[in-house]
Amino acid sequence: MIGKVYLVGAGPGAPDLITLRGAELLKRAGIVFYDALVHPETLAFAPQAKLVAVGKRCSRISTDQRFLDQVAVDEALVEAAAKYAVVVRLKGGDPMLFGRAQEEIEALVAAGVPCEVVPGVTSALAASAEIGVSLTRRGMSRSVIFATPRVGEGEDTSDWAPGVANADTSVLYMAAGQAAQIALVLEQHGMSPATPVLVVENASLPNARQIGTTLRGLRERAGLGVDGPALLLLGQVYRERAHALIAAALLENASADERLQKRALPR
Ligand code: SAH
Repeated sequence: MIGKVYLVGAGPGAPDLITLRGAELLKRAGIVFYDALVHPETLAFAPQAKLVAVGKRCSRISTDQRFLDQVAVDEALVEAAAKYAVVVRLKGGDPMLFGRAQEEIEALVAAGVPCEVVPGVTSALAASAEIGVSLTRRGMSRSVIFATPRVGEGEDTSDWAPGVANADTSVLYMAAGQAAQIALVLEQHGMSPATPVLVVENASLPNARQIGTTLRGLRERAGLGVDGPALLLLGQVYRERAHALIAAALLENASADERLQKRALPR
């Protein structure tokens, strides 16, 4: 038998942000290979399927060490198509954005296995919904760049910074861990230290969090203190939102200081 492999976008996190087509395929799947960022309730759409975790999250090891190697995932997909009519490869967000879809598509095509991609809501769009700021706010932004400073082992480093420095709005994936370094590089490429920045963690999930700052603030911060997946959003469209968040954080710190001082006062 030769089954078909579907590369399905699971959406940004919230289980109900998968497409109808994706959910229908999960219901029909014999086997599902899923990423680390996929929500457990999304997997519940496929109670009949064999579930295989193949994700890694920031090189943290998932269930099966074998699948840390992309080639092993490619091979497993080809093998699964010999056994199951419907194979789903479920990826966080959209498969075609920073999702290693190309390697899998090429391996499937080379092996003569039919495959199809089902798009998903990428996290940049979920983060925009979360903060209520348009990526292309009229009169302020006519270009958006989705970029990542992260390169895989043994890959060439393309220069990601000039594109970001020249776009009206930028969304940086896989960047929160090296935020200070990224801010430094962008300033060196001529971006203003006053550029508004938002960090959105766990977009679309109940524990979503936002931090407002500027490029300078990012550079001077010791760390972001984020644990979940997070995006950096940069540009003038975030000015008001970033300022409001900065002001709120300052007020909160001030009242915390006040409480501490009151406690320290002699009776
Ligand atoms: N294909 C995915 C991206 C995979 S790369 C997509 O389209 O969204 C993984 C990166 O995506 C993370 O490092 C983080 O930057 C971002 N990300 C994924 N889910 C996220 C979420 N719910 N909130 C914020 N960022 C998220």
